[in-house]
Amino acid sequence: MKVLVTGGAGYIGSHVVRQLGQAGHDIVVFDNLSTGYRWAVTCGELVVGDLADETAIAELFSQHRFDAVLHFAANIVVPESVENPLKYYSNNTRNTLNLLKVIQQHQVPYMVFSSTAAVYGMPEETVLTEDLPLAPINPYGASKMMSERMIMDLAAASSLNYVILRYFNVAGANPDGLLGQATPEATHLIKVACECVTGKRDGMSVFGTDYDTRDGTCIRDYIHVEDLAKAHVMALDYMADGGESRVLNCGYGRGFTVREVIDVVKRKSGNDFPVQETRRRAGDPAALMADNSRIKKVLGWQPDYDDLDTIVGTALAWEKIWQGKQG
Ligand code: UDP
Repeated sequence: MKVLVTGGAGYIGSHVVRQLGQAGHDIVVFDNLSTGYRWAVTCGELVVGDLADETAIAELFSQHRFDAVLHFAANIVVPESVENPLKYYSNNTRNTLNLLKVIQQHQVPYMVFSSTAAVYGMPEETVLTEDLPLAPINPYGASKMMSERMIMDLAAASSLNYVILRYFNVAGANPDGLLGQATPEATHLIKVACECVTGKRDGMSVFGTDYDTRDGTCIRDYIHVEDLAKAHVMALDYMADGGESRVLNCGYGRGFTVREVIDVVKRKSGNDFPVQETRRRAGDPAALMADNSRIKKVLGWQPDYDDLDTIVGTALAWEKIWQGKQG
């Protein structure tokens, strides 16, 4: 298939691009390089551009006849979305609308969309099914929920088929050390802990130790980026085989506490970096895990890296390579 990957120079997109290339797809990456990198595009052609630029995307679609669009390009930092909501409604929601206009105009048959467990907000349940009501508690989650809705509405009114993937906590890196998370000001737990090991940070905080969980810290469902990438390739195959539009959670269905994650990073690295216990971070639910029965049934997806030691090990190896690349 000829596929357009928006945001294909970023963390998750770059891992997906590599797997799409291995599966024999013909790839065009469209990325504004705001948080992505040229070196991360290991297959296909890179077009540098912004989805806010409707002329640029019109030109892109007039030059290529895409069978599928995988849409990753977005901002993803929750606290930033609270401070600057319109950045999120512009870059995530409005830019998805821009993309959908050309998808409609050129009758692109398939779309895979990067969504997030943040669309569920603060549910009472700890294991989440796709049928829960959507109630995001921050502009990031709302910007993705609105994008989901636009995709569903366009699909209902046209021949577009979609798979919306709701990611849980994505972490880890390509096991060959080729790719990994290079986000400049990362806030995600495993990345932050790995930066403590390389000395990029002097230490880190645990946000809240009074949650109703086994050790008082929040529980999250950490999924290896290569397993997540595989779900995208399988989603394309599923639609090409005639599968109907679906919304699918992407997680392993189990969780680890913040303390458990930090302990694994310390044990695997042999580095006992300073950790400070601080108060809760706004908007953090105590525990979030995916009910992943639907993705297993619909796509036949099975994880290959469901092991916290492996996730942390690949993230640590990458962090050292990445710090080395930067000098
Ligand atoms: N967390 C933490 N210290 C950090 C970063 C994150 O204690 O430096 C906690 C955070 O409060 C949450 C969990 O780790 O309970 C996962 O947070 P992250 O930002 O990685 O992902 P989120 O679940 O918010 O998408």
